[in-house]
Amino acid sequence: MKPLLIVISAPSGAGKTTLCDLLLRAYPEIEYSVSCTTRLPRPGEEDGEDYHFIPEEQFARLVKEGRFLEYATVHGHSYGTLRDPIVDALKQGQSVLLDIDVQGATKVRENIAKLPADDLLRQGYVDIFINPPSVDELRVRLEKRGTDSPEVIEKRMQNAEEELSHSGEYMYQLTNDDLRTCFKRLCDVINVKGGIL
Ligand code: 5GP
Repeated sequence: MKPLLIVISAPSGAGKTTLCDLLLRAYPEIEYSVSCTTRLPRPGEEDGEDYHFIPEEQFARLVKEGRFLEYATVHGHSYGTLRDPIVDALKQGQSVLLDIDVQGATKVRENIAKLPADDLLRQGYVDIFINPPSVDELRVRLEKRGTDSPEVIEKRMQNAEEELSHSGEYMYQLTNDDLRTCFKRLCDVINVKGGIL
């Protein structure tokens, strides 16, 4: 497979994490880009696996040193994607999956557009937005997940509306009304972009 820089965004609750997990299982040559975040781990989350959970001061230092390809504040916490591990993976022929929010994806897209046409990051770039079946269904999913307080769910719902308004900026939009179908479509995108189909 041609090394891809795959950016996937979706409002929380749209099923993005499940889709990303399935993708990583189906394509061992895709590496998950572990983001840095200043939020606390949720039960079951592992440092270095789900995120690099770091303190605010360390995050601020990395920003100052220019180490992030992009960073953003989401739901009151800082999140950022380190540039070096991505470039290293692509150079080694590995694809990289970025699970980032709309603000982050916009910044990555802007940064990529400034690169020369033959740059590895630009050549392999593909971004995909996952739509939930509906806003109502999104609330149901967030409530069912049971990981967030009602206040956090409200905040996520407000963010979701804002994020949905940017879906048209992505190269591909998929709707996750049925997980299996959505996953199949996601694989098709990856296969086409990776030169397999
Ligand atoms: P959560 O806290 O639920 O894991 O993630 C909240 C949001 O932050 C999600 O939309 C997720 O995609 C986004 N996010 C995770 N990592 C990054 C990152 O490195 N950069 C940006 N901009 N957003 C991220």
